[in-house]
Amino acid sequence: MRFRIVLAAILLYCAPAAAQPKLVALHSATGTSYIGGFQELNHVYVSIGEVARALSLNTFVLKATDKLSVYSNYGSLLFTPSNGFVVVSLRGETTAMQMPLPVLEANGKLYMPAEYAAEYFSRIIQGTLSYDKEQSEFTFSPEQQSLPKITSIRVEPKVNGAVIEIGMQSLPKAYEASLTSSGLGGNPDMLYVTLMPATADVPGLDSLPSTGVYSNVIAIQNPKSVQLSFRLRQKFVSKHVFVDSTANTVIIALYSSQNVQKILSEEIQQKLDNEKKNWKLNVIVLDPGHGGKDPGTTGMYGIEEKNVALAIGLDLRRDLHEALPNVKVVMTRDKDVFIPLYKRGEIANEAGGKLFISIHCNSMPTKPNPMHGVETFFLRPGKTAEAIRIAAQENAAIKYENNYEKTYRSYDADNIILTTMAHSAYVKYSENLAELIEKNVSRVAHERDNGVGQAGFYVLIGASMPAVLVETGYLSNPREARFLGSVRGQHLVARGICDAIVKYKAEYEKNFTQN
Ligand SMILES: [Zn+2]
Repeated sequence: MRFRIVLAAILLYCAPAAAQPKLVALHSATGTSYIGGFQELNHVYVSIGEVARALSLNTFVLKATDKLSVYSNYGSLLFTPSNGFVVVSLRGETTAMQMPLPVLEANGKLYMPAEYAAEYFSRIIQGTLSYDKEQSEFTFSPEQQSLPKITSIRVEPKVNGAVIEIGMQSLPKAYEASLTSSGLGGNPDMLYVTLMPATADVPGLDSLPSTGVYSNVIAIQNPKSVQLSFRLRQKFVSKHVFVDSTANTVIIALYSSQNVQKILSEEIQQKLDNEKKNWKLNVIVLDPGHGGKDPGTTGMYGIEEKNVALAIGLDLRRDLHEALPNVKVVMTRDKDVFIPLYKRGEIANEAGGKLFISIHCNSMPTKPNPMHGVETFFLRPGKTAEAIRIAAQENAAIKYENNYEKTYRSYDADNIILTTMAHSAYVKYSENLAELIEKNVSRVAHERDNGVGQAGFYVLIGASMPAVLVETGYLSNPREARFLGSVRGQHLVARGICDAIVKYKAEYEKNFTQN
């Protein structure tokens, strides 16, 4: 208890002026613990670490940044001082979610509003943490085993088979179906379907009326799973099981003919096609850097980056039309005009882009300069001094925009990290693409491969798709400036990027067309 008093005294001293120290009770089946915190205006803030301890969760502090990670067997929460974003990792997926109020730091501890503590901790625990505002107290209720229930079974006979749809409250984590053939003896063929986790109204299912497809259903409830046995009236030779996540339905397609490919009912094929369409790499967005009043860097012989980037972009569009005639190519600019950085991401998103490639040229502060080679970047906060220098140089383009302070206010390092994590699904693809472009461009252009880097480019932040930025060479280097300023050089660089995209597309689509 002495610890609590000390903490309260410290909070009085260093918490915000209006704050009053406060202890918040947390009730659970095993007893009550008290969480240190303070009241500020309408909100009670509680120590994140103490809530975690009361729930027997592990914590970890990232020393350099004071970020606090809380983790359970199911997932983790990452809190950042003075920041409203919480990075939630659950079942291998990471998303950044935003609280209306930031996490506060006092005396080396992180505090968050109690009502949000309840909401966020509930995401990663087996059970619910609720917060009663009137009483200022938490209650932890462990999860009662609630398994998703089977709500309906529908059957539709088709010309060459049948479709059975099993409706559920929520989709099971696992599902499986098998067909048995009776052979001789007059026994019927059976279809067995296992769903887990799941629960069923067994008598209700057992009394389902017979249909043209099956004569009856027998349901067996296991501790966590349900097995359904359908006694079939006709012979089916194969089956295909999939889920419709929009309708929480497990669908079993049964085929009465060996020639499965031909008889896939149009309906099912349509559903599968729609799923795949979302993944198809059918729109590529090319973003020639700078333009109009923003010349980018001006290199040797007065060569301007904006003109080189545009020429490469136009060449690349032509190459892509030839190499991938079914892919739509959208350009953020196809002439010498100024487009704000944030607008470029918007154009890409509106076009439904599946890939975003920003084309630039590098330079050193003094010219002529021997520094040379190709560098390709994908979005992540800059790590090396060189990546930070290049990012700063490219981001400086915002000075040509009106109101840029307002537009980019949220683009500080921390938010870039969080945006990146929110889009972490794309990071792997962006990195693969960056590596392919880096290799191909440096090879065709006989330029040095300076490697792939990660940096906080504003232009990449807005594009919700795999996105890379390629610095095609140094305009401050006399040889590379001549090369990039020449029609031949621009063709070669475009060809290198095009080859990389073709390779990337093949690899990417392979991942999504299987299964
Ligand atoms: Zn540039």
